[in-house]
Amino acid sequence: MDVQDLLDDEEREMVKYRTIPRSTDDFVYTAYHDLNSIYSFMDMLVAENSNLVSKIVIGQSYENRPLNVLKFSTGANRPGIWFDTGIHSREWVTQASGIWFAKKIVTDYGRDPVLTDILNNYDIFLEIVTNPDGFAYTHSRDRMWRKTRKPNSGSSCVGVDPNRNWDAGFGGGGSSSNPCTETYRGPSAHSEPEVKAILDYWMPPSRVSLPVDVHVPFHSLQGVRAFLAYHQIPYYVMIENVQDLLDDEERERVKYRSFPRSTDDFVYTTYHDLNSINSFMDMLVAENSNLVSKIEIGKSYEGRSLDVLKFSTGANRPGIWIDTGIHSREWITPASAIWSAKKIVTDYGRDPVLTDILNNYDIFLEIIANPDGFVYTHSNDRMWRKTRKPNPGSSCVGVDPNRNWEIGFGGPGASSNPCSQTYHGPSVHSEPEVKAIVDFVKSHGKLKAFLSIHSYSQMLLYPYGYTRTSAKDQVELVCIKAVSELQSLHNTAYTYGSVITTIYQADGITVDWTYEQGIKYSYTFELRDTGRYGFLLPADQIIPTAEETWLALMAIMEHTKNNPY
Ligand SMILES: [Zn+2]
Repeated sequence: MDVQDLLDDEEREMVKYRTIPRSTDDFVYTAYHDLNSIYSFMDMLVAENSNLVSKIVIGQSYENRPLNVLKFSTGANRPGIWFDTGIHSREWVTQASGIWFAKKIVTDYGRDPVLTDILNNYDIFLEIVTNPDGFAYTHSRDRMWRKTRKPNSGSSCVGVDPNRNWDAGFGGGGSSSNPCTETYRGPSAHSEPEVKAILDYWMPPSRVSLPVDVHVPFHSLQGVRAFLAYHQIPYYVMIENVQDLLDDEERERVKYRSFPRSTDDFVYTTYHDLNSINSFMDMLVAENSNLVSKIEIGKSYEGRSLDVLKFSTGANRPGIWIDTGIHSREWITPASAIWSAKKIVTDYGRDPVLTDILNNYDIFLEIIANPDGFVYTHSNDRMWRKTRKPNPGSSCVGVDPNRNWEIGFGGPGASSNPCSQTYHGPSVHSEPEVKAIVDFVKSHGKLKAFLSIHSYSQMLLYPYGYTRTSAKDQVELVCIKAVSELQSLHNTAYTYGSVITTIYQADGITVDWTYEQGIKYSYTFELRDTGRYGFLLPADQIIPTAEETWLALMAIMEHTKNNPY
């Protein structure tokens, strides 16, 4: 058999049907198509069936092509079924079948009772071109290309076998360590972005003594279990079904969706959306105009106000800064801040320590430091962490606003990949949400404590994240005091120390920058819990978390007041 004859036949066939269809009914299912043609098929399918099909981008390939997935869905919060085709690019009948399946689904839904029943209970995800770089290469250069198209350092051979790059059994005998073979496993598990897009680390690998938390999508469950068993890695399941927790959270929220007329009516035991939090702030200011005002320190990328509550009893005071919600999925942090804001107005004039602090210092509280991300956690993706600014040349959106600061910017404790959760951004302070705080800190000039609040892990951390050099000030003593105060209330155990020695190297973080600006008391909190619920901390823990955190905040603020500098 002459392979070239077959290639010629195939090419003749493709050319014959090289048309520009105007709908998926016109589309030629009996020919092989190139990437542009498949992408336009997907767009037409979505446009024609927008009630049933949407296109989601789960990442981008090494050569920056979008990794498009068709989502067939008839309702919110369904479990899912995953199909992918074309992960080996030369296996053209798989992508071609994927196209036919997609059309079949929209045609049969509402007609075929079995498929209809499936789609009324499950979402179907279909990634037709799972390896778009390889696929484009099978059209432009080498019809027989199987692997990805990422260069291998130290080798002239290109690409990794994306079906040997998964971490279950990674590096075993059924794959090759030679970059020139068809089954080259790659330099490390999930090294290929086409593969990695599919796992979600909540707590990334860091120190030997710390666990790793991974949110495993249903379709990867078997593979991950096999990997853990193969390597005899102990593990346990903390959240059996993330969707159940999301459903609980949503049910809880709906229950308390009220329109309070005052901050006394406000429900502190539930999670709120941005509108509700904005109205809380406005009510608090209106009710306590002698003590609280709202200042706008800038606008987010999408044009939302970056609002800060200012608690002040006199002019020209030094200041204490607290921010929450800079990572948008860490909902417990703004929820605690709302409670704290109400606590301040309640306790001022009653609690002698707080009264004394506020008679000498202003407190600035930015409850929603990343409003675009926060809105997105409500509308699209509860697990969104970053900002929402598009990245030129990439289909992945957003920058990690806790890797975007000047000190240590671009170091190894951050990622240069726009698709990463820790992407440092194109340049120092590129994110308006970060730049607004930078400008505020510089123009204020008299901030004496800076507390940036995250979740989860139950840690109180001080600089540095970018270097093992110790901070020059005695920042540990007040930290120990704060942690013991916190623990005294509900016996919540915290660890503490510098970022780099306690969690991992993190470059370009907020508190390294504020410390270098001369703010001696710069701390990062990681609130509850340690992973049992992770980012989905149940609403009945809001008040206990806020109460215990308040004790630590008070300890740091009191120490700041008693030790002026
Ligand atoms: Zn965070």
